[in-house]
Parts: sequence; structure tokens; C-alpha cells
Amino acid sequence: MSRILLLSTTTGYQTRAFGDAAERLGVELVFATDCCHQIDDPWRDGAIPIRFYDEAASVDAILRAAGQRPIDGVLVVGDRPTVIAARVADALGLPGHPPAAAAIACNKQRTRERLREAGLPVPPFQAAPLTADPDALAASVVFPCVVKPLALSGSRGVMRADDPASFRDAVLRLRALMESPDIRAERNDAHQTMLVEGFIPGREVALEGLLHHGALHVLALFDKPDPLDGPFFEETIYLTPSSLPAERQRVIVEAVTRASAAIGFTHGPIHAECRVNEGGVFVLEVAARPIGGLCARALQFEWRTGDGSRYNSCTGDGSPYGTGSRPPYTLEELLLRHALGESPDAWQRETSPSGVMMIPIPRRGVFRGVEGLDAARLVDGVEDIRITAKADQLLVPLPEGASYLGFIFARAGSPAAVDRALRAAHARLQVAIDPAVLVLQSRHG
Ligand code: ADP
Repeated sequence: MSRILLLSTTTGYQTRAFGDAAERLGVELVFATDCCHQIDDPWRDGAIPIRFYDEAASVDAILRAAGQRPIDGVLVVGDRPTVIAARVADALGLPGHPPAAAAIACNKQRTRERLREAGLPVPPFQAAPLTADPDALAASVVFPCVVKPLALSGSRGVMRADDPASFRDAVLRLRALMESPDIRAERNDAHQTMLVEGFIPGREVALEGLLHHGALHVLALFDKPDPLDGPFFEETIYLTPSSLPAERQRVIVEAVTRASAAIGFTHGPIHAECRVNEGGVFVLEVAARPIGGLCARALQFEWRTGDGSRYNSCTGDGSPYGTGSRPPYTLEELLLRHALGESPDAWQRETSPSGVMMIPIPRRGVFRGVEGLDAARLVDGVEDIRITAKADQLLVPLPEGASYLGFIFARAGSPAAVDRALRAAHARLQVAIDPAVLVLQSRHG
């Protein structure tokens, strides 16, 4: 049985999706995670405990384990373990992104520098110590600007400022966020620095791709239909296929290809975010990992025949699994197969338009539950709704928060119909949130 190492930030629903896929494929998964971040799952037998902040010791621990029971492929979920994953693959002689590329992608300043050196469009940017005086710094900033940490993800800490006063507020707010215990526990030197860059107007797209020995295979191009103009940048809806003209899409793929090469990526999953406007395609970031959270459930794949025509993914005819009833393939299945050396040449996303809404956290407070789920599930096109927040959990919206309330999935005849279904379902949900002060009262008796 082949064995794949999965490095993950937490052992949540995304790792479970990999577990299910591994079971279907008959592949054994070995987990490695930072036990400090073990939140809601029991410790798995055989999992390799590592510390993300101690890369060398983590790599050693994994290599020792691999010495006893060999590993055939490496995958990663979440941003933080990407460098360790790349170092392990490198040390074991397995194909993967070079460690140096993974390290560049984990740092927004180094990413900007690389893209600029490669002649790709980047906004004007400058890095400054988090402790810098915002009023003095404002003199050299062109507004509107975006203030962000170098090494957080999910838009955490990313804020737009339009003038020196809002810039000052943003810097002070970022400083306070970076003092929070969970961020300090990361012991990341990059957290001492912030990036200030020009605000890029335009619409936003995300590209999910797989690099196979240097060649980019686009698995999906997502439109983000909501304007992301700040002051905070909460992602809500992802729709695929993109409704942009084919030529625009081609230019986006080319920009992501160039950005990936500039960063140094060669082999493995990538997830890129781009801003598109009349000035061109601005690649905001390319991460050495697949799409996060439960969003991968919006993607299903099928096999092409050798002559380019498509298999019926529902019957499984001609697929590597032979004939018989077989659901479409999940992203996790494809990634496991790729990690074992299979080329993604024969895979393509199903033709049906699909989308996901990351349900925003409307305000800070204690989560009590969601009503209207049954009615929301009845909306035409809606396939599933998953509430991932836990009862009594403190909900924190962006820019400080790091999670969503849950996810809505829809499929329909057009991306616009998917969009309507997601919004209609969301409108039927009533989220009960109590003021956070109650938590303090109950904690202190
Ligand atoms: P993260 O890695 O936390 O997602 P990003 O740097 O990708 O951080 O920024 C998150 C979001 O903030 C982007 O998807 C985009 O909507 C917005 N954003 C970031 N930088 C800019 C910018 N320079 N101009 C306009 N929007 C931006």
C-alpha cells in the first residue's frame, strides 16, 4: 500500500476529506501536525508530532519516521507547514516544490520582490517594522493603500487605508492583532514586519492549479463576484467556470504561470489570487497548497479519454476504476494520485457551473446557532450547507478573525444562477450571536 504524508495546520474537515479520499483509493495517510493546534480532533495514532516554528526538528522527526516506514508522496493543507513539506520531499527525493520557493510564497514581501524582479506588475510596496510611527510613515505612502502582515493568511490583518488617519488606525489595529496569543505562539520573525502597498482596483479571481514537473494544469478558475474594495477583505463567493472572456482567462493563466515560475514552484498544488483591471493582471499571491477549508467540495473532476472526449464521471466508464457506479472524483483524490506520480493530463473539472459561499461572520460574539437551514437547503441549486462554527464559540470577524461560519455549496445551469442560489440560501439563514461580554461573565462566575 502506498503511503502519503499529509502535513496540516489542524486536523479539521479538510484533513478528513483527505482521509476519505485515501480510503477510496486504498492509500495510507500519515499525518504530521503541530499538536499545539490540535483543537477539535482526538490525537491520531501514528501521527507525527511536529512544531511548525522549528523547521529543522520537524523535518528530522518526519525523516526518522519515514526511515521506519517509507513515504511515497507528500501533501500539505494550510500555509504554515508548506516549507517543512517541501524540505521533507526534497530530502526524500520525492517530486515537490523547492523549499526556497515555498519560503518565498510564505512571505508577502519576498513574493512582491520576486514578482517585481520577474517584470510582473506589482503595486508600489514598502516593508516597515510593525513598531514604526504610522504618522511618519504616512508621508511616504500613496493612498489608497493596503496594510498587511507578511505571513498570515485568509485576509487576516489585511486593511485598506485611504488617508493618514485611517492608515494610523490600520497600523495600530494590526499591531494589536499581532500581539494576540495565537499569533505570538507561531514564533515567526516575519510577524515583526508589515507590508504597505498600493491598493489595486479591479475584480478578483482565484486559480486552483497543479504544477506537474513545471507545467501548469489549471483545475479551476474562480470568479469572486463580490467587490473586494475594503476596508477589510472578507471572501464570500467563489464561482467556476469564470465568466470572463476567454482571452482574459488566458492572460490570467499566463500571469499565474509566470508568477509561479518567478517564485520557483515546480511540482505540486498551487492556489493563486489575482486582481484584474485595465492595467493587467496583478498576481497578489501564489500559495504552495490547495484551496483551503471546505471550498474544495465545490470542485468535482472527471476523466477525459485519450482522444480528448470526456468520460461520463457518473458511470465511471473508462475511468481508472473500471465500470460501475462511481461518484465524480474529488480534488483530494486527484491530489493524492498526483502525489503518487500520476499526471493530471487526463483530468478536467466537470462541466457544471459550481460555487461556494464562505458564510461571513456578521459580528463579534458568542455563536448560539443558525436557524433557517432547512429552508435554505430547499433553494433550487443548493447542494449542501455546512455550519462549521461550534456552539458557544467566540466568533471574530475580519480583520482579526481566522474562520468562517460555514459553507454553502450550489450547482446550477450558469454561474449567475449558482450565484443567485448561494445568496438566496444565505438570505434564509438567521445566525444567533450573543454579545461577547457574556463569555467573560460566565468565565468569571
Ligand atoms: P492573505 O494571504 O491573507 O489572503 P492577501 O495579501 O492575499 O492576504 O490579501 C487578502 C485579500 O486582500 C486579497 O484577496 C484582496 O482582496 C485584498 N488585497 C490584498 N492586497 C491588495 C492590494 N494591494 N490591492 C487591493 N486589494 C488587496
